[in-house]
Amino acid sequence: MMSDGHTARAELAALLKDLDDATAERNAAIARVSTISAVVSGRVVLAAGESIGLRAAVTLARRLYWDYPQVSVESVATLLGVAESRVARAVGPVSVERRCRACGLSFTWSMPSRHALAPSMCPDCHGEAATEVDQMAGWPKSPQL
Ligand SMILES: [Zn+2]
Repeated sequence: MMSDGHTARAELAALLKDLDDATAERNAAIARVSTISAVVSGRVVLAAGESIGLRAAVTLARRLYWDYPQVSVESVATLLGVAESRVARAVGPVSVERRCRACGLSFTWSMPSRHALAPSMCPDCHGEAATEVDQMAGWPKSPQL
């Protein structure tokens, strides 16, 4: 029994060492992504001065906006020549697959911006839940005049 406990503690110590190593690798990768993203943001601003054509600029902006979230919106805005608040509309939404937490079915959601919060339920379940909440709160379905 004592040897089993010793073995378990030794395994745990080895696992914690692996976890420390993996965490250090992750943190180094995060720092590298941040550094490279800052360099890319700077290059995008420089490239904005060269005319690459509207279609190419929008294609690049869309890729930068959706695939590289650490590349600044400010640099994408500069590339497009629009205000930061207009970038999401300029690059357009992406379709995201989600799994409904109520019924488990997957559904497609059109994500309008980097910071939009995805719904946790499909439109059908969301509609049912909203109706139940209205009923629990005693809210009428339509205004009573
Ligand atoms: Zn559902």
